[in-house]
Amino acid sequence: MSNSVYEQYETVIGLEVHVQLATHSKAFCADDASFGGEPNTHVSAISLGHPGTLPRLNKQQAAYAVRLGLALGCRIDPASAFDRKNYFYADLPKGYQITQDRRPICVGGALPIKLGETWKEIRLHHIHMEEDAGKSIHDQDPRYSFIDLNRAGVPLLEVVTEPELRSAEEVDAFMSGMQQLVRYLGICDGNMEEGSMRCDCNVSVRRRGNTRLGERCEIKNLNSMRYARRAIAYEVKRQIDLIEAGGKVAQETLHFDPDTGVTSPLRSKEDAHDYRYFPEPDLPPVLLDEAFLSEQQNALPALPWRLYGQFRNEYQLTDYDAGLLIEDRDVAAYFQDFCAHTPHKKAAANLIINKILPWRRETDAEITNFPLALSSLAAFLQLIDEGKVSNAIAYQRLLPALMENPGKAPLALAQELELIQTADTGLLGELADQVLAANPDKVAAYKKGKTGLMGFFMGEMMRLSKGQADPKTTTALLADKLKV
Ligand code: ADP
Ligand code: MG
Repeated sequence: MSNSVYEQYETVIGLEVHVQLATHSKAFCADDASFGGEPNTHVSAISLGHPGTLPRLNKQQAAYAVRLGLALGCRIDPASAFDRKNYFYADLPKGYQITQDRRPICVGGALPIKLGETWKEIRLHHIHMEEDAGKSIHDQDPRYSFIDLNRAGVPLLEVVTEPELRSAEEVDAFMSGMQQLVRYLGICDGNMEEGSMRCDCNVSVRRRGNTRLGERCEIKNLNSMRYARRAIAYEVKRQIDLIEAGGKVAQETLHFDPDTGVTSPLRSKEDAHDYRYFPEPDLPPVLLDEAFLSEQQNALPALPWRLYGQFRNEYQLTDYDAGLLIEDRDVAAYFQDFCAHTPHKKAAANLIINKILPWRRETDAEITNFPLALSSLAAFLQLIDEGKVSNAIAYQRLLPALMENPGKAPLALAQELELIQTADTGLLGELADQVLAANPDKVAAYKKGKTGLMGFFMGEMMRLSKGQADPKTTTALLADKLKV
């Protein structure tokens, strides 16, 4: 089919993102909630769903849910409730999952996602708390499937968006934004490979201009952005081809096979599960008081999109620099601290991006452990700004020397190493005379109009002065001496 046919359609995507919370214990009991471990070692009678056991809510799960909700501008329900979602599966010990169906803890809200230099708000339907199931392992034995229940009961948040995403790029931006946010909040490690964040993609298409949504399919459990992109591209083309051929998209749950690049039905709407939701009788409503809510509000760090706005508008950084500096919360915080010490915001950003981040990558250390104090770095930038040390010399010689002598004041060390630029016209005049006397041909050529030779003369001046000639004074001096 020609491209123009595909262009007549709009892609509509809604996401259900599962965020595995970084709590120590599970959602409803004290079992270890950490990833991995020997199979079936993080389990007690409660994780195993033995008769007579009772769940008890992990307060940290509610705290993390509220933090995420507040960060995203959701309305927090002060009395949300749990429900049972019943289905049978070998890795679901109780035969039901405890989730929130009628009264989720967070309602509404939006995540701002970064698309190039602009931001778009993706509204959320709600966020609810639930527990994870165990893991079935099908590829270790030809005859048997194995079951690991370590994950059973690990706390999850499910973030459900409105159908407002319009492309795989937007899904990518949403997942990266969500990953960045949960890391800022410290509620999840955001590691998609280990399954700490997974998403179901609901995909439909409609003719451009149509306001009614098309029939959707749900692609289950995408745990990498690369797979999600391929799955969406495949599914969009499949749906358009089907409609163009006179067919109708049927509401289905799909599985994406990364080996073949193809989606295939897991189940259709007709054999969709009837989960027989009902209120969880073993858990009371989650009552949140003002003190708890304000405690969570106070635990919020500065949020990435606010920092981006501040770095762009207040500090005049480029989109690229601001984007880099907000990637990690500790880098952004370090930059903010730095800015409190120096008026040279742009130079501070460059210093972090060009020197401190590479140092952090090489040493694998925390950024706050960079050997130079912020006051020292600020003094370093001040020397450059005042023209006392040239930018090149400062970075090539002074900074490495400072890193070896972190206790020394930048000015004192620059003096000791004779790196201070000189604007002393007497001294520079003598050097200029030497340079011009040694290059009579070039002087003649310059005077005949080859003014590009100024670069050469400046280079010589820098060489003779060991980089200490103040460029402005030197250029003026040379120009004066070369006047016809
Ligand atoms: P269900 O309760 O059956 O899972 P919901 O209405 O709660 O369905 O929607 C689940 C997800 O599907 C949400 O993220 C929503 O945005 C998305 N969604 C709903 N309808 C569509 C559609 N026509 N196209 C794409 N996504 C959709
Ligand atoms: Mg759903």
